[in-house]
Amino acid sequence: MPSDLVLANRGVVDSFGHVSMRHPDRPDRYLLSRSRAPYLVVDADIMEFTLENEPVSHDERALYAERAIHGRIYAARPDVAAICHKHAPATIPFGVTGTDLRPIFHMAWAIGASIPIWDIADRFGDTNVLVTKNEMGDHLAHTLGSHRVARMRDHGSVVTGATLPWSSSPQCICKRMLNCSPQPSVLARFAI
Ligand SMILES: [Zn+2]
Repeated sequence: MPSDLVLANRGVVDSFGHVSMRHPDRPDRYLLSRSRAPYLVVDADIMEFTLENEPVSHDERALYAERAIHGRIYAARPDVAAICHKHAPATIPFGVTGTDLRPIFHMAWAIGASIPIWDIADRFGDTNVLVTKNEMGDHLAHTLGSHRVARMRDHGSVVTGATLPWSSSPQCICKRMLNCSPQPSVLARFAI
Protein backbone atom coordinates (compact mmCIF):
# COMPACT_ATOMS: atom_id res chain seq x y z
CA MET A 1 0.00 0.00 0.00
CA PRO A 2 1.52 3.39 -0.95
CA SER A 3 2.45 5.60 2.03
CA ASP A 4 0.26 8.34 0.57
CA LEU A 5 -2.78 6.20 1.23
CA VAL A 6 -1.62 5.24 4.74
CA LEU A 7 -1.18 8.89 5.74
CA ALA A 8 -4.43 9.89 4.07
CA ASN A 9 -6.27 7.24 6.07
CA ARG A 10 -4.71 8.63 9.25
CA GLY A 11 -5.83 12.14 8.38
CA VAL A 12 -2.26 13.44 8.06
CA VAL A 13 -2.28 14.52 4.42
CA ASP A 14 -5.16 16.19 2.65
CA SER A 15 -5.91 16.18 -1.06
CA PHE A 16 -2.59 17.81 -1.91
CA GLY A 17 0.09 16.24 0.32
CA HIS A 18 2.65 13.81 -1.07
CA VAL A 19 5.18 11.20 0.09
CA SER A 20 8.39 10.12 -1.63
CA MET A 21 11.26 7.73 -0.99
CA ARG A 22 14.80 7.64 -2.30
CA HIS A 23 15.30 4.96 -4.94
CA PRO A 24 16.69 1.87 -3.12
CA ASP A 25 19.22 1.15 -5.90
CA ARG A 26 19.86 4.63 -7.29
CA PRO A 27 20.51 7.18 -4.53
CA ASP A 28 20.55 9.89 -7.20
CA ARG A 29 16.87 9.27 -7.89
CA TYR A 30 13.63 9.16 -5.93
CA LEU A 31 10.14 7.68 -6.25
CA LEU A 32 6.98 9.78 -6.09
CA SER A 33 3.42 9.39 -7.32
CA ARG A 34 2.12 11.20 -10.36
CA SER A 35 -0.06 14.14 -9.37
CA ARG A 36 -2.93 12.53 -7.55
CA ALA A 37 -4.82 12.93 -4.28
CA PRO A 38 -3.21 10.68 -1.65
CA TYR A 39 -6.43 8.73 -1.16
CA LEU A 40 -6.25 7.60 -4.78
CA VAL A 41 -2.56 6.67 -5.15
CA VAL A 42 -1.85 3.09 -6.25
CA ASP A 43 1.41 1.33 -7.08
CA ALA A 44 1.04 2.06 -10.80
CA ASP A 45 1.11 5.81 -10.07
CA ILE A 46 4.66 5.74 -8.69
CA MET A 47 7.21 7.40 -10.97
CA GLU A 48 11.01 7.81 -10.86
CA PHE A 49 12.66 11.25 -10.75
CA THR A 50 16.17 12.70 -10.79
CA LEU A 51 17.28 14.89 -7.89
CA GLU A 52 16.73 17.82 -10.27
CA ASN A 53 13.07 16.71 -10.21
CA GLU A 54 12.86 15.61 -13.81
CA PRO A 55 10.92 12.39 -14.56
CA VAL A 56 13.17 9.60 -15.78
CA SER A 57 10.56 8.25 -18.17
CA HIS A 58 8.94 10.28 -20.90
CA ASP A 59 5.35 9.64 -19.93
CA GLU A 60 2.79 12.40 -20.18
CA ARG A 61 1.13 12.05 -16.80
CA ALA A 62 0.63 15.21 -14.72
CA LEU A 63 3.27 15.77 -12.03
CA TYR A 64 3.16 17.38 -8.61
CA ALA A 65 4.07 21.06 -8.99
CA GLU A 66 5.94 20.92 -5.66
CA ARG A 67 8.23 17.97 -6.36
CA ALA A 68 11.17 20.41 -6.03
CA ILE A 69 10.78 19.88 -2.28
CA HIS A 70 11.72 16.24 -2.62
CA GLY A 71 14.62 16.20 -5.06
CA ARG A 72 16.46 19.13 -3.55
CA ILE A 73 16.21 17.79 0.02
CA TYR A 74 17.50 14.39 -1.15
CA ALA A 75 20.37 16.22 -2.87
CA ALA A 76 21.25 18.17 0.27
CA ARG A 77 20.71 15.36 2.78
CA PRO A 78 22.30 11.99 1.88
CA ASP A 79 20.95 10.59 5.17
CA VAL A 80 17.32 11.19 4.14
CA ALA A 81 15.53 8.24 2.53
CA ALA A 82 11.94 9.47 2.65
CA ILE A 83 10.06 12.77 2.66
CA CYS A 84 6.47 13.80 3.31
CA HIS A 85 5.04 17.24 2.53
CA LYS A 86 1.62 18.21 3.82
CA HIS A 87 -0.70 21.18 4.28
CA ALA A 88 -2.50 20.15 7.47
CA PRO A 89 -4.44 23.27 8.57
CA ALA A 90 -3.76 22.62 12.27
CA THR A 91 -0.01 23.13 11.73
CA ILE A 92 -0.34 26.46 9.92
CA PRO A 93 -0.52 28.68 13.04
CA PHE A 94 2.78 27.22 14.26
CA GLY A 95 4.44 28.44 11.08
CA VAL A 96 2.84 31.88 11.20
CA THR A 97 3.12 32.75 14.89
CA GLY A 98 6.52 31.22 15.54
CA THR A 99 5.06 29.38 18.53
CA ASP A 100 7.39 26.44 19.18
CA LEU A 101 6.14 22.98 18.34
CA ARG A 102 8.09 20.90 20.83
CA PRO A 103 7.97 17.21 21.80
CA ILE A 104 5.84 17.09 24.95
CA PHE A 105 5.27 13.37 25.36
CA HIS A 106 7.65 10.44 25.25
CA MET A 107 6.88 9.20 21.72
CA ALA A 108 7.32 12.66 20.28
CA TRP A 109 11.13 12.61 20.34
CA ALA A 110 11.07 11.66 16.66
CA ILE A 111 10.15 15.19 15.57
CA GLY A 112 13.38 16.55 17.04
CA ALA A 113 14.03 19.13 19.74
CA SER A 114 13.32 22.07 17.48
CA ILE A 115 11.56 22.68 14.17
CA PRO A 116 12.77 25.59 12.02
CA ILE A 117 10.37 27.82 10.08
CA TRP A 118 10.94 28.43 6.39
CA ASP A 119 9.38 31.56 4.93
CA ILE A 120 9.50 31.51 1.14
CA ALA A 121 9.09 35.30 1.13
CA ASP A 122 12.50 35.79 2.73
CA ARG A 123 14.21 34.88 -0.53
CA PHE A 124 11.54 34.88 -3.22
CA GLY A 125 9.22 37.72 -2.21
CA ASP A 126 5.49 37.67 -2.96
CA THR A 127 4.61 34.22 -4.36
CA ASN A 128 1.74 31.75 -4.12
CA VAL A 129 4.03 29.94 -1.55
CA LEU A 130 4.23 26.79 -3.66
CA VAL A 131 7.72 25.30 -4.02
CA THR A 132 7.78 25.06 -7.80
CA LYS A 133 11.45 25.78 -8.60
CA ASN A 134 14.61 23.93 -7.70
CA GLU A 135 16.14 27.05 -6.14
CA MET A 136 13.12 27.21 -3.83
CA GLY A 137 13.68 23.59 -2.86
CA ASP A 138 17.36 24.37 -2.23
CA HIS A 139 16.44 27.26 0.04
CA LEU A 140 13.97 25.10 1.97
CA ALA A 141 16.61 22.36 2.32
CA HIS A 142 19.06 24.94 3.66
CA THR A 143 16.58 26.00 6.36
CA LEU A 144 15.79 22.38 7.19
CA GLY A 145 19.51 21.85 7.76
CA SER A 146 20.06 18.74 9.85
CA HIS A 147 16.55 18.85 11.37
CA ARG A 148 13.92 16.21 10.66
CA VAL A 149 10.99 18.60 10.27
CA ALA A 150 10.57 22.12 8.91
CA ARG A 151 7.50 24.31 9.18
CA MET A 152 6.63 26.22 6.00
CA ARG A 153 5.05 29.58 6.76
CA ASP A 154 1.52 30.08 5.36
CA HIS A 155 1.75 26.65 3.76
CA GLY A 156 2.40 23.48 5.80
CA SER A 157 5.43 21.40 6.70
CA VAL A 158 7.97 18.90 5.43
CA VAL A 159 9.12 15.82 7.35
CA THR A 160 12.14 13.64 6.57
CA GLY A 161 13.17 10.19 7.68
CA ALA A 162 15.97 7.67 7.32
CA THR A 163 13.33 5.15 6.22
CA LEU A 164 9.86 5.48 4.78
CA PRO A 165 8.10 4.52 8.04
CA TRP A 166 10.27 7.03 9.92
CA SER A 167 9.18 9.85 7.65
CA SER A 168 5.57 8.94 8.33
CA SER A 169 5.87 8.51 12.09
CA PRO A 170 6.65 12.17 12.92
CA GLN A 171 3.66 13.21 10.82
CA CYS A 172 1.40 11.13 13.00
CA ILE A 173 3.18 12.36 16.14
CA CYS A 174 2.69 15.99 15.10
CA LYS A 175 -0.99 15.25 14.68
CA ARG A 176 -1.16 13.70 18.16
CA MET A 177 0.75 16.62 19.64
CA LEU A 178 -1.72 19.06 18.17
CA ASN A 179 -4.37 17.20 20.11
CA CYS A 180 -2.33 17.98 23.26
CA SER A 181 -1.86 21.66 22.38
CA PRO A 182 -4.02 24.76 22.62
CA GLN A 183 -6.35 25.04 19.69
CA PRO A 184 -4.76 26.69 16.64
CA SER A 185 -7.33 29.49 16.90
CA VAL A 186 -5.83 30.36 20.31
CA LEU A 187 -2.28 30.31 18.95
CA ALA A 188 -3.38 32.44 16.04
CA ARG A 189 -4.07 35.30 18.46
CA PHE A 190 -0.32 35.78 18.58
CA ALA A 191 0.06 36.03 14.82
CA ILE A 192 2.55 38.61 13.64
ZN1 LIG B 1 2.64 22.39 -0.52
